[in-house]
Amino acid sequence: MTTTLNRDFKEIRSRIQSAHRILITSHVRPDGDAVGSTLAFGLALQEAGKDVQMVLADGVPRALRHLKNSEKIQKKPSGVFDLIVVVDCSGLDRVGTALDEYPKPDLNIDHHITNLNFAHINLVESTTPSTAEMLARYLPQWGLEISQIVAEALLTGIITDTLGFRTSNVQPQTLRTAAALMELDVDMPKLYTKALHERSFEAVRYWGAGLNHIEMENQIIWTTLSNADREASNYPGKDDADLVSLLASVDGAVVAVIFIEQPNGMIKVSWRARPGYDTSKIAAQFDGGGHKAASGATIEGALDDVKKQVITATQMLTQ
Ligand code: 5GP
Ligand code: MN
Repeated sequence: MTTTLNRDFKEIRSRIQSAHRILITSHVRPDGDAVGSTLAFGLALQEAGKDVQMVLADGVPRALRHLKNSEKIQKKPSGVFDLIVVVDCSGLDRVGTALDEYPKPDLNIDHHITNLNFAHINLVESTTPSTAEMLARYLPQWGLEISQIVAEALLTGIITDTLGFRTSNVQPQTLRTAAALMELDVDMPKLYTKALHERSFEAVRYWGAGLNHIEMENQIIWTTLSNADREASNYPGKDDADLVSLLASVDGAVVAVIFIEQPNGMIKVSWRARPGYDTSKIAAQFDGGGHKAASGATIEGALDDVKKQVITATQMLTQ
């Protein structure tokens, strides 16, 4: 596990205490941990009297807009800050346009194994299943209170990054942290259902397009979602509606890959793997990154060409 030095930890506390204007941001195409960590840290700082801007370059996805105060998250920052914090994000290229006009971030809190230590202080724990779990542990140590609304955001981050407490990196500590957050009057089953179970009719129709042409070879399962598939199903996002998790559940498949054509001509690729397989290395070959069990990259090229290259590279894991 990578942990920061104690010296850095004290420095983080004092920087938080002395800062007045604080910017919190996270990665593009934000997931539950990115939104939950941004919101939790931002709201805890606001409750402590700080002037905070919470920014996600791509905004909050529809499936997470039930989180209280999520409408406070902006797409762009404005003004100057005396503390810039990036959460749940492994590299500066992953914040999108959020920090275009700003200097190197002061603080990065993250759990990606591929983290590039891009801020002045980097608190990176690659064995902790979510950034939200790190924050649940550290916010009180930095003098910040975990209110009911903060707890709701943190628990959402923990639930989503662990796929409902079932990823292989879940520890007893994860469940204890979740239980402590639940005790702050948080409706865990409701958050779980909202974040992981409910999906739109359009999303399932979009899945149908992808499921129509799944392929499997050498324990690797994959499919594609084209711009035409997305238009035909009326699906509003540019992601895979988490179809990759369904592929990863198939018996005999140890690695799942999905290729999602983007309107700008790029191909978004997501990998998921069973324990024992490290997809982050393959993603890194294509300038992406992530975790062993879940990683991604955005690659330039035609859908069929990218698919061939990526499947060939991914086969290294199973041959
Ligand atoms: P997803 O495939 O669902 O977008 O992401 C899976 C994991 O890989 C997440 O932890 C995400 O942050 C990371 N990830 C996805 N795409 C990229 C990328 O282009 N670069 C890096 N460094 N990480 C990525
Ligand atoms: Mn995360």
